[in-house]
Amino acid sequence: MSSEGEPPLRITRVRAICTAPEGIRLVIVKVETSEPGLYGVGCATFTQRPLAVVTAIEEYLDPFLRGRDPDDIEDIYQSAYVSSYWRNGPVLNNALAGVDIALWDIKGKRAGMPVYQLLGGKCRQAAALYAHASGRDPREVEENARAYIEQGYRYVRCQVAVPGYSTYGAQPASGRSPWPQLLGLGEEAWEPSAYCRVVPRLFEHLRSTLGEDVELLHDVHERVPAIQAIGLAKELERYHLFFLEDPLSPEDNDYFGIMRQQTSTPIAMGELFVNQAQYVPLIRDRLIDFIRVHITDIGGLSMARKLAAFCEFFGVRTAWHGPGDVSPVGHAANLHLDLACHNFGIQEQHVFGERLREVFPGCPEIRDGYLWPNDGPGLGIDVDEKLAARYPFPEHPLNGSWPPVRRLDGTVVRP
Ligand code: MG
Repeated sequence: MSSEGEPPLRITRVRAICTAPEGIRLVIVKVETSEPGLYGVGCATFTQRPLAVVTAIEEYLDPFLRGRDPDDIEDIYQSAYVSSYWRNGPVLNNALAGVDIALWDIKGKRAGMPVYQLLGGKCRQAAALYAHASGRDPREVEENARAYIEQGYRYVRCQVAVPGYSTYGAQPASGRSPWPQLLGLGEEAWEPSAYCRVVPRLFEHLRSTLGEDVELLHDVHERVPAIQAIGLAKELERYHLFFLEDPLSPEDNDYFGIMRQQTSTPIAMGELFVNQAQYVPLIRDRLIDFIRVHITDIGGLSMARKLAAFCEFFGVRTAWHGPGDVSPVGHAANLHLDLACHNFGIQEQHVFGERLREVFPGCPEIRDGYLWPNDGPGLGIDVDEKLAARYPFPEHPLNGSWPPVRRLDGTVVRP
């Protein structure tokens, strides 16, 4: 709260900026204040439903927050959170996250400090990244992983094509699905057993060719029935993964206790989580090793720093979701947490192309397998609105929605 005598600082406007410099729909929130030139930026990117988030920001949060003191981050978070009465979903959480992250940016600018200083200061100089290596067969994955290792990366996520099918994280090995007549626009054919046979062979090859020094990761992306995911995690144990990511869907959360009793393969979970009821039990019961939420999907920096502190007490490390559908502003927020949290585990890498770096001046830099901050106040990143306007959302018949992934009989599977 402003002390007496000073002109009170107020939020004057909250608005959304839509841009797609790399073709991925990004939503940025700008919180403007009564102090000329003082504003904050936040990430509110829910790339499959961006226009719904824009509506939540501009039609609901803007009128709700005008006139508030931007210093009151926690009170603004708590009051906006319950202002819809029904809460906790990804649309409202992203809208709230955009505001929340922007308020931390403003507070840092007012303090003349980077946000990581407000969070307790640096535990490390930069955040170790994992790169994405994929290929049509194990040899091609090996070559791509080797290229990253030669650049200084010590952590590589490896995904391989499943012959005859599409799969997550790798291009198909052969051009055509065996059952194209079942598929509609953009749809993919996928079978869990074929996938579960291929993945252990990939890691057998990688360990025998790359050795034990490199940390290897793999993302199941929730597609597998729970009992097959448990079997896969057990089979992969001998290859000493750094982690196996999202082996179960959030709907199958209760299987984590069974998985834990069966295997010591480290488990990373959570990019689809949106509320405490989903992640608190897994952490409290020590059923996962890395928390992998997308911080805007759980409500932003305020919620993520509480979650990180909670995880520290249970030996769970952070691995914030960081693909291309986190904007550079969101990556900057991830990085400030990575630097300030003792229980940092790893950060997922997105290579920021030239267009992104132009639209977002101050974008964190990647060097030698690490993500480096700048020491600018706040998040240290901005959005060039004129440049951002040059990259409108792409026209697409599904408007950002994901087409279904189907089994051979046409059944939809979780993506
Ligand atoms: Mg993932």
